[in-house]
Amino acid sequence: MSTIEIVQIPTRRDNYVYLVREPNQNTVGVVDPSDAAPVIEALTARGWTLTHILNTHHHGDHTGGNVELKAKYGCKIVGPRADHDRIPGIDIDVGDGDTYAFGDAIAKVFDTPGHTHGHIAFWFEEGDALFCGDTLFALGCGRVFEGTFGQMWNSLTKLRDLPDSTKVYCAHEYTQANARFALTVETGNQALIDRAAEIDALRAANKRTVPSRLGIEKATNPFLRADDASVANAVGLPGAGPVDVFAEVRMRKDKF
Ligand code: ZN
Ligand code: FE
Repeated sequence: MSTIEIVQIPTRRDNYVYLVREPNQNTVGVVDPSDAAPVIEALTARGWTLTHILNTHHHGDHTGGNVELKAKYGCKIVGPRADHDRIPGIDIDVGDGDTYAFGDAIAKVFDTPGHTHGHIAFWFEEGDALFCGDTLFALGCGRVFEGTFGQMWNSLTKLRDLPDSTKVYCAHEYTQANARFALTVETGNQALIDRAAEIDALRAANKRTVPSRLGIEKATNPFLRADDASVANAVGLPGAGPVDVFAEVRMRKDKF
């Protein structure tokens, strides 16, 4: 077992790409490279050589750098078995419950379908780090493009079961807009009100709001709280099941 070092690279308009390094074996991965150039720049600045690409899902803003990075470094691409055919250059298929030895660090894989059919998340227990792509965002969740609301809810609750201390390395800086929406759902959630103010202050100072921690997500993210009576009541569905409440919240966000 070994802990990992993480470097956050902002790319495009609001993407986050992450370098992950396991120092014992000098294993260096990149999670969801939207583009090759900013990754090469960050690697070169540190004198690191890329050994792995970890992909959470097939969208172009997560895999756009795959082919160029693989050609340059000869790295191995690890991605979702269920979407093998849509991950450019994939070498190693992983799926729910698998563990992947990333140097001396262990990544546990979860299937998290909903945003896309084959979406996965990587959890490094030792580093307290979750790479969840476009499934869970700070104060939000991904749009349900390819799966059902039930699948997405199930995926989110899987991630919610991880320890409160887990750092949530999601793939986009959407937090401020998510906070505005969340406040329309849970108008009286004081933890959310406080957090929204902190987020506004961070963004006003041009600072990042990611990673967040799972504990605060559980207390403030409406998409993780669809089985809480306060959210069901807030969206006019008292007594409804969590999937129906989640679907209502997600549909409201789509129109927000
Ligand atoms: Zn996506
Ligand atoms: Fe994305």
